[in-house]
Amino acid sequence: MRKNLFNDLFCITFFLSVLFCSCGNQKNSVSFEAMNTFMTVQSYGNKSVKANKEVEAAIFQLEQKLSTTKEGSFIYKINHSEGQFVECDEETSDLINFAINMAKKTDGNLNICLYPVIKLWGFTTGDYKVPSQYEINEKLIHTDYKKVRSNGNKSFCVENGMEMDLGAVGKGYAGDCAVKILKENGVSSAILDLGGNIQTVGKKPDGSLWTIGIKNPWGGSAALGVRIDEKAVITSGGYERFFTGEDGKKYIHIFDGKTGCPVENDIASVTIVCESGVYGDALSTSMFVCGSKNAIDYWKNNRDFEMIIIKNNKELIYTSGLKQNLFTNYDFSKISVIE
Ligand code: ADP
Ligand code: MG
Repeated sequence: MRKNLFNDLFCITFFLSVLFCSCGNQKNSVSFEAMNTFMTVQSYGNKSVKANKEVEAAIFQLEQKLSTTKEGSFIYKINHSEGQFVECDEETSDLINFAINMAKKTDGNLNICLYPVIKLWGFTTGDYKVPSQYEINEKLIHTDYKKVRSNGNKSFCVENGMEMDLGAVGKGYAGDCAVKILKENGVSSAILDLGGNIQTVGKKPDGSLWTIGIKNPWGGSAALGVRIDEKAVITSGGYERFFTGEDGKKYIHIFDGKTGCPVENDIASVTIVCESGVYGDALSTSMFVCGSKNAIDYWKNNRDFEMIIIKNNKELIYTSGLKQNLFTNYDFSKISVIE
């Protein structure tokens, strides 16, 4: 009798666990360092282990192509080719073209040719300094993204002194590749944190929306949350990578290509919520650079993304598409919704 009960219980448990696994609720997560940041991919389903491994490998491979510092990368070769055309593969070429189009659309607020200036300020080595205006001017003349030449067939070249840097779009692009790989592997639910860029596949395994916390630029717990289904939630802010100059001023890692200096405006952070990681990444950087007024105008003229701006004066501004799915967790000085 006892043995039968034991057998029955064993069978039921076994049956339930098979059912549970076949429903695809197995959770697997992988973390690794790539693209100068920490990344975590958490996916659900019985293919999640294989899928996560493929994602990790693909991101490392992408880094080999897009890095500014790895000698074999396409970007490194373009930057060191002394004005000769360098042939890239299709995805690198597509990404460069996308970034240049976004630079044109945002009036150069996204500018993938600011590397000489970013280097001058020490952000590539950690050897920070506030350069003289003369030094800045000397580098600024080599930052015109309109001078990136393409032969229309995946080959690019920049003139001597110019250097490309896909740092503002690479992680978003990597996120899109990761989402594609996960889906190809049959994963229907996943959440990725690629150095603060959040991207999701489907909904949570229980069918509910994901809740994504948006960091408080002044520290502590998340300042607000957004509920999303399959989306990219990409934030640019000046509160994580910066140095303090001898003048006591804070200098951040996002640059204004018009001045050659770190951005200083009314924005503490800007978050983009949209379908595509690479688009969100390009927009988060460029909307950060242009300040809240221009960012709002840009949104009004485009409206194919949602945006959350936290201003230095602790105001919160967000676009109307988020109305039902945004909740605050901070005492903002003012909250406005852009219609
Ligand atoms: P993060 O990489 O910190 O998430 P971003 O997506 O905003 O932030 O990208 C910032 C990176 O992009 C910088 O570290 C630098 O390499 C590069 N960058 C800085 N300013 C600009 C700009 N105006 N346009 C394009 N790239 C930029
Ligand atoms: Mg970006």
